[in-house]
Amino acid sequence: MTQESKPKDAAAVILLSHQTDQDNPEVYWVQRSTKLAFLGGFYAFPGGQLEPQDAEPGAANCEDQQRAALINCAAREVFEELGILLARGGELLTNGQRRSLFDDLKSGRMSWPALLKHYDLHVDAHDYTFVGRWVTPPFSPRRFDTWFFLVRCPPKQQPELATEGELACGEWISARDAYARWQRSEVVVVEPILHALRTLGGGLTDDLVDRFLSVPQTKGEPARRIEFRPGFICFPVRTPTRPPATHTNCYLIHTSWKLLIVDPGSPYDDEQQALWNCITELLNEGRTLRGLVLTHLHPDHVGGVEALRKQLGGTVRVLAHELTAEALNGVIGVDDLLKDGDVIELEGNPKITLHTIHSPGHARGHLCFHEKKTGALITGDNIVGLGSVLIDPPEGNMHDYLESLQRLRSLEGLTVLFGGHGPAMANPYARIDEYIHHRLEREQRILEAVRGGARSPSDIVALVYTDVSPKAHAMAQRAVLAHLEKLEADGLIEENDLQDRTEKFL
Ligand SMILES: [Zn+2]
Repeated sequence: MTQESKPKDAAAVILLSHQTDQDNPEVYWVQRSTKLAFLGGFYAFPGGQLEPQDAEPGAANCEDQQRAALINCAAREVFEELGILLARGGELLTNGQRRSLFDDLKSGRMSWPALLKHYDLHVDAHDYTFVGRWVTPPFSPRRFDTWFFLVRCPPKQQPELATEGELACGEWISARDAYARWQRSEVVVVEPILHALRTLGGGLTDDLVDRFLSVPQTKGEPARRIEFRPGFICFPVRTPTRPPATHTNCYLIHTSWKLLIVDPGSPYDDEQQALWNCITELLNEGRTLRGLVLTHLHPDHVGGVEALRKQLGGTVRVLAHELTAEALNGVIGVDDLLKDGDVIELEGNPKITLHTIHSPGHARGHLCFHEKKTGALITGDNIVGLGSVLIDPPEGNMHDYLESLQRLRSLEGLTVLFGGHGPAMANPYARIDEYIHHRLEREQRILEAVRGGARSPSDIVALVYTDVSPKAHAMAQRAVLAHLEKLEADGLIEENDLQDRTEKFL
């Protein structure tokens, strides 16, 4: 089994406005830049990773050293990102003085501990209410064990976005308005943010902290069902997939009446059971199953289909592209064929209409599903939230793949991509552009290598894939073959440019 990455300690601040409405409090949230590779375009609370310097001096009135360091980390991050100084003694500074402190920190003239000492400031644990510790689920390329703290914004301080490039914008918003924006599919958030908005929407009651801590995920148990968007549950299941991925995302697309399951990929009993529990819950709420859809033929996407069919008493209909059905013949039964342009309607409230897009390249019968109303796109293994997409001939075809990417790029109003692996992507166009750019750049370098005299895929890999570990070179050779096929088809190289054609059949 491949190694899941170990979560890193981090802290986040749920900043409440100074004299906020007790019934529907105002919080400050930020949108991450769409340029960021990790959770680009997501709405979030300010925060970041723990640094060694955060342990000294930690925070006053806190016996637990780890918590003290994380509180200090929270204070530092909020100052770095918003210019808000959440330290005692800060109330004696003028806005101008606070700004010059900020410049001291940003320019590196003074470290955070030195700055606290120099200006006689101290971070006090009493100002930071602990409201849970969330661990990023293991499907993510980067994982954090994040401590959330609820903090009142001090009087006379206003957030100013300071971290250049990292945050796109920020605003005060009432918890219920923010939650309503998620419900209207206008924003993409991770689970702890959604939970915080829901909890705060219940008002600043005496049992507020208990309500925050009422779910097991606040005690470090990673969320299994992840609702980046309403109606689209992402349920990552452990699969024998290609590193760095360890999980494949199964999507449970649902309205008030209907449920559609996409890619139940795990062959493992425990994972199938966990998925089954979630499916049963959705069905018990009064939904009926519309079907089970496959994006493509790879084992890490279809490994749980027959087990699920059995659990459902054999009644479910499996839908896939004709080429997928042919390839899986005898292994997995496909009941209904889907082709480009087919529409899957899920009746109910709100109704979901999915448009089928045939998008070959990674696999011949690959399908994507587009919901025009909210701009959501299920991308399967065409675009993923971690790792890279393997184009392995003859099933894979680079020419088709780039055409498919261009076609997805041309869809209007995309707001989120739901890939077969890793977190959702809230920066769809930036992401697709990056994919296209990456492939064309590789192609150019491969062409240069061939023109420079490289005569076999292994020669080319050695020249071009210098950023890839030798362990991955066999895979890289498959990708090189795919690029060479495309270059030949485009008439940019000729077959006899390459001596060693046998490598084509590695
Ligand atoms: Zn695949």
